[in-house]
Amino acid sequence: MSANESLKFRSLNTWLKPVSLPLLISGPCSAESRRQVMETALGLASTGMVSVMRAGVWKPRTRPRSFEGKGEEALRWLVEAREATGLPLAVEVASPAHLELCLKYDIDMVWIGARTSVNPFSVQEIADALFGTELPVLVKNPVNPDLKLWIGAIERIYHSGIDRIIAVHRGFNTYEDSVFRNAPLWEIPIELKRIFPGLPMICDPSHISGSRRLLLQVAQNAIDLDYDGLMIESHCNPEQALTDSSQQVTPEGLFELVSSLVVRRSGCIKGEATRELEAYRRQIDDIDRNILYFLSKRMEIVEKIGHLKKKNDLTILQIRRWNNIFRDRMKRGQDLGLDPVFLRTLLEMVHQQSIELQTRIMNENS
Ligand code: PEP
Ligand code: MN
Repeated sequence: MSANESLKFRSLNTWLKPVSLPLLISGPCSAESRRQVMETALGLASTGMVSVMRAGVWKPRTRPRSFEGKGEEALRWLVEAREATGLPLAVEVASPAHLELCLKYDIDMVWIGARTSVNPFSVQEIADALFGTELPVLVKNPVNPDLKLWIGAIERIYHSGIDRIIAVHRGFNTYEDSVFRNAPLWEIPIELKRIFPGLPMICDPSHISGSRRLLLQVAQNAIDLDYDGLMIESHCNPEQALTDSSQQVTPEGLFELVSSLVVRRSGCIKGEATRELEAYRRQIDDIDRNILYFLSKRMEIVEKIGHLKKKNDLTILQIRRWNNIFRDRMKRGQDLGLDPVFLRTLLEMVHQQSIELQTRIMNENS
C-alpha cells in the first residue's frame, strides 16, 4: 500500500497535552463499582503521570452471563471521578446507543474496541452517529491481523468529520504459540504508521501481554518504536478485578512501571551523536542500494532461466535445486550471524518472486 497523504489527522499535541511523557491513558478494564472507580481515579491522579482515565462500561465478553459492565450507572461514577480528579474520560463504545449515552455524560473521548473494529457495519454505524460531534476517537486494531480492516475503520471515523483520532495497537489473535495474550506483530502498526505518518499511535501493552509480568517489556518496546503513548489497565485491587485481572496493575504499580521506562528521543540529537548516526545511515543507504541492485540482477537471470526452461519443456520448480539453495543459504546466513527466522522469510520471498516471474513467462504466448 502506498503512503496516504490525503487524510489530515489533527496532531496530538494540539488537543491532548500529555501531563508526562509518554502520553498515558490508564484506568480499569471495567468500571465495577462507585468505590472502585473513585479509588482507582484518585490513585491515578496522585501518580501525576496520567492524562486520561479509561474504563469499560459495556464489556464485550466471549461467553454470556459473565460480567458485562455496569452501563449508564458506571458513567455516573466516572463523571464523579472526573469531578474529583480533573482527569478526562475515555470509554469504549460498540454501538450508536453507547455513543449516545457517552455524549449525554459528556465523556471526553471514546474508543472502538478490537471486537468492533473488526466489523465494518458496526464501525459505520458508530461513525454515522459521530457525525457532527467532533469527539476524539481511539481506534483499536481489529482482533485479527488485518491491516486493511484497521485502516478501513480509521477511514470510516475520519470521513464522519472526526480528525482527532488515535490508533491503538493492542495486539492480534493468532493461532501460533506465544507468550503473549495477543501477539504484537509490530510490523502491522509500523506499516500503518508508514501509510499515515500523521496518525497518532499508542500501544496497549495490557491486552498484548495478558499478564503483569510482560507489561514493562512490551511498553518499553513500544516506546523504542516511537509510539506517542500507552494505554495501560489499572485497578485499585487487580486481584479482585471482574475482568482482565491478571494484566491490571495498581496505580502505584503503574507509577513504578512508567518510571522505569527509558524514553529515547526520536529526532534531533546534537553534536557527535548526530554525525555518527548520519555516517551509519549513509552506510545503510549504500548497502540497501547494493541489495536492490543485486536483487534486480538476480531477477534478470531468473528471467533467462525462465525462457530456457520454457524452450526445453522443463518444470519451473526443481525441488532438489531449491532444497540445495535453501540449505546452503540458511547455513551461510547463519554463519554470518543472521537470524534463522529472518533468513527463512527472506529466502522464501525471493524464491516466491522467482517462481512468479517464471510462471508469467510460461503463460506468455510465444
Ligand atoms: C479493553 O480495553 O478493555 C478491551 C476490551 O480491549 P480490546 O478491545 O483491545 O480487547
Ligand atoms: Mn481489558
